[in-house]
Amino acid sequence: MNTSKNVLILGANGFIGSSLCWAILNRTNWNLTAFDMADGKIQHCLGRDRFVFKKGDVTKDTDWIEAQIEKSDVVLPLVAIATPALYVKDPIRVYNLDYESNVSVIKMCVKHKKRIIFPSTSEVYGMCQDSSFDEYSSNLTLGPIPKERWIYSCIKQLLDRLIWAYGAHEGLDFTLVRPFNFIGPKLDDVKNPKEGSSRVLTQFIHNIINGKSIKLVDGGKARRSFTFIDDAMDCLLKIIENKNGCASGQIFNIGNPYMDFSIKQLAEMLVELVATYPGYAEAAKNVKIEDVSSKDYYGEGYQDVAYRIPSIKHAEELLGWKPKTDLKTALKLTLDYHLAGKDYELESARA
Ligand code: UDP
Repeated sequence: MNTSKNVLILGANGFIGSSLCWAILNRTNWNLTAFDMADGKIQHCLGRDRFVFKKGDVTKDTDWIEAQIEKSDVVLPLVAIATPALYVKDPIRVYNLDYESNVSVIKMCVKHKKRIIFPSTSEVYGMCQDSSFDEYSSNLTLGPIPKERWIYSCIKQLLDRLIWAYGAHEGLDFTLVRPFNFIGPKLDDVKNPKEGSSRVLTQFIHNIINGKSIKLVDGGKARRSFTFIDDAMDCLLKIIENKNGCASGQIFNIGNPYMDFSIKQLAEMLVELVATYPGYAEAAKNVKIEDVSSKDYYGEGYQDVAYRIPSIKHAEELLGWKPKTDLKTALKLTLDYHLAGKDYELESARA
């Protein structure tokens, strides 16, 4: 990864953004400009060579953003709300941020002829019935309008289609990437998970360590393919590197089809693992696992995805990438960070 490059990340303090900043600074010689409204997750990056950070609001600092796009080689607009509870609770906020702010960045990339790597989502497949979801042949299947959960999926699908059109008709150099339930140390904050608004792993860890019951929505029968963040970063670095243009004009699922588990299995595995951490055995032993209906947990506007398994043949063939981390290892590394005070980034950088 030694061809020099200027990379711009908007939304650098999110889970993917912060992990990517760290990976770029430690594994490449690229220059990185990063933007976010907060910097809590990128503390280890601040002050490093080749790293410039600006704190700001993506909806207001548009002149600064455009100037940075002009100076960059590749742009990753990662700003978005990506938690299902908020799709249902505040769909207008999701629209304003996820659609409006990103569409303007996409147009700036077109105007300045800059490469864009856009985070689409595994949510775009919705309730697709294929046994594994393929970027080029699977149908994207969403529920009816009153099921507000689908606003995020629909926004991302429209942006995917817009980017594809700019690529086909106006020469935009792009890659669409679809994350499948990335997990790892810096997902949401387990101490302050905003009850009902965090991704499932954070919510479960929080509930176990704080003596609250784990709630299994509709019995926890929904399945997800979880992907460890480091595997995802390996893939994203290859996409940014874009050796011989291998990622240009392409769509890639980034997921781990070998990590397909039900939410109930995830809960059981977590309880077992938390019990092995000093000081948490009692909490794990006493935790109750309760069933709750999706209507009671999320409200009427929710509809679940029964399973979500990626086909990764495209990433294997074009990028030579394959995920390596199993679920137990991924959960242990995440719990080491939260429950054993291990600084995951510094330890892995030293390893
Ligand atoms: N879920 C659950 N209990 C919780 C939070 C989530 O059973 O406290 C379920 C949710 O209904 C879904 C799955 O866990 O089936 C994954 O939810 P998440 O919010 O992580 O995001 P998604 O994969 O749906 O985008």
